[in-house]
Amino acid sequence: MRKRVGSILGAVAALVLTLGAASPAAAQTGYTQTRYPIVLCHGMAGFDRLFGVLDYWYAIPSDLRSGGARVFVTQVSSFNSTEARGEQLLSQVKQIIALTGAAKVNLIGHSHGGLDVRYVAAARPDLVASVSTIGSPHKGADLATFLRGHLTPNGFDETVLSMFANSLGVVLGLLSGSTNPQDSVAALNALSASGMAQFNSRYPQGVPTSSCGNGASSVNGVRYYSWSGTSKITNIFDVSDAPLALSSLVYSESNDGLVGRCSSHLGTVIYDSYGMNHLDEVNQLLGLVNIFETNPKSVIRAHANRLKNAGL
Ligand code: CA
Repeated sequence: MRKRVGSILGAVAALVLTLGAASPAAAQTGYTQTRYPIVLCHGMAGFDRLFGVLDYWYAIPSDLRSGGARVFVTQVSSFNSTEARGEQLLSQVKQIIALTGAAKVNLIGHSHGGLDVRYVAAARPDLVASVSTIGSPHKGADLATFLRGHLTPNGFDETVLSMFANSLGVVLGLLSGSTNPQDSVAALNALSASGMAQFNSRYPQGVPTSSCGNGASSVNGVRYYSWSGTSKITNIFDVSDAPLALSSLVYSESNDGLVGRCSSHLGTVIYDSYGMNHLDEVNQLLGLVNIFETNPKSVIRAHANRLKNAGL
C-alpha cells in the first residue's frame, strides 16, 4: 500500500515537474521577446498595484516576462482628461526609455488607457513603435454620453457624481501610493461621444473614417492595433459581471459592458467580439474570466509575439 501511494506521489511529482518545465521552455523560445519594451497603461479608476497584491493587469506582466519581454506598468490619474493623463504617461515613457536605453516602446492601453497611449503617440511618434488598445472607446462610451446627457452642468447631480468619483479616485490613488490630481467630470466629458469627436479631430491617427471599419495600420512610423470583447456575464463567481450587465443596458450596439464593438476599433482590428466583458479583457477580477473563450493572457501573449514578428 505504502509503495502504491509512493508511486502515485511520484507520478504527481513528475506531472508537476513537466508542467513547471513549460515556463523555462517558453523563455528559451523568446515568444514574447519584443525588440522594444512593452508598456501596459491602465484605464479609468485604474491602479498599478492595490494593496501590493491586486494588479490591474492581473498576472499579465509576469506572463509576458516569462516569454522574454521587458514589461513596464505605468500609473496615471484614475479620473482625468485624456490630455492630463497622456502628459503623465509621456513623462513615464521618457523615464522607461532613459532606464532601458531602448529607442522606443510598445504601448498597450486598456479602456481610457488606450486613449492616453494615442495621445503619447501623437505627441511623440519618435518614441513609440506601436499603439495597441483593448476595449477603448475611440468613438465614445455610451454610458458616459448617457450620464453626461442626464446631468445638469454644475448642478446637484454633477456635484454628487464628481464627489463620488473623485473620492473613489483619491482612495485608489492613496492605496496604491499615488498623488495624481483627480477630475471625474473631466473624465466623463473625455469619454462621451462629443468629447471623443473633439479628441479624434485633434489626434486622428489610426481612427477609422468609417463607422465600423479598420483605421490606418501605420501612421508617422507607429503601428496601430485594437481588439475588444462583447460579453457581459462570463463567470458566475465574478461579482463585477452584474454591474457590467447593468451598464450595458444603455447601449444600442454589442458591447463589453462599457465600450461598444465598433467604438473599440483603431488601426488594424485584430478581433472585436471576444467572449469577454470589459474587466475580463485585463484578466479581472483575479483571473475570473470566461473559460469557454481564449484566455486574455493568451490573447496578449500572442499579440506580443505579433509585435516581435513585425520587428517591433
Ligand atoms: Ca471577469
